[in-house]
Amino acid sequence: MKLIIIGAPGAGKGTMSEEIINKYNIPHISTGDMFRDQIARQTELGLKAKEYIERGELVPDSITISFVKERLLQDDCKTSYLLDGFPRSEAQAEVFAQMLENKELGLDAVIYLEVDFSKLIERVTGRRICRNCKSVYHTVFSPSKVEGVCDKCGGELYQRPDDTEESLKQRLEAYNEETMPVIKYFEKLGYVKKIDASQDIENVKASLFEVLGDIK
Ligand code: ADP
Ligand code: ADP
Ligand code: ZN
Repeated sequence: MKLIIIGAPGAGKGTMSEEIINKYNIPHISTGDMFRDQIARQTELGLKAKEYIERGELVPDSITISFVKERLLQDDCKTSYLLDGFPRSEAQAEVFAQMLENKELGLDAVIYLEVDFSKLIERVTGRRICRNCKSVYHTVFSPSKVEGVCDKCGGELYQRPDDTEESLKQRLEAYNEETMPVIKYFEKLGYVKKIDASQDIENVKASLFEVLGDIK
């Protein structure tokens, strides 16, 4: 299965990606996780990306495209992948389309998590991530059993520095201006499966698996 998952910051991409990879065991390529890993390792790319991410802006295409393309061209993506966070701009969509055309990649569907923006402040400010295994929690909607500790691996939970109200505003602007046209583009090509992501986690998950059942 070759999938893109797309939606506003806080729509539930990471959460639903965990569900998909648990069930189908396919590589999860999260560009946000890839950038955070580069930042944690203080690589040159990480240092460049950090300032944009902290401001809630997209990392420039000149940095992002070659970085993600290299990952997508690795062998494990030939049979299946779940791409979370890319393409997010028109230039990125063009590169992706070119890869489809050249048969460097395949694509079955784009899962679009459509969410009422009024839900996002609460979701984003309550988000907690495991430093070790990157699992996603929420202080209210999906709490860990022991506060601050990952249920799955015992790792430390932390709050992303960009998960503030101010950064969310900026990220939603980037989403509206740069990512919405990407969704429209995939819609025209007939790839988009829309899911109502304003529902609670269990119901979004049920809608998701209904859609995925039709694809397989
Ligand atoms: P994204 O990857 O799209 O930014 P996440 O999956 O990280 O979104 O979810 C953002 C936050 O909201 C997380 O803390 C997650 O636990 C929580 N969350 C995800 N989906 C829902 C939902 N349907 N209802 C309530 N909270 C949710
Ligand atoms: P969210 O879960 O809130 O949607 P992500 O974890 O996917 O956020 O991404 C975090 C940040 O990383 C983004 O706000 C952006 O700065 C950067 N980023 C991730 N993917 C891309 C991309 N494809 N192009 C440019 N910047 C990106
Ligand atoms: Zn963990």
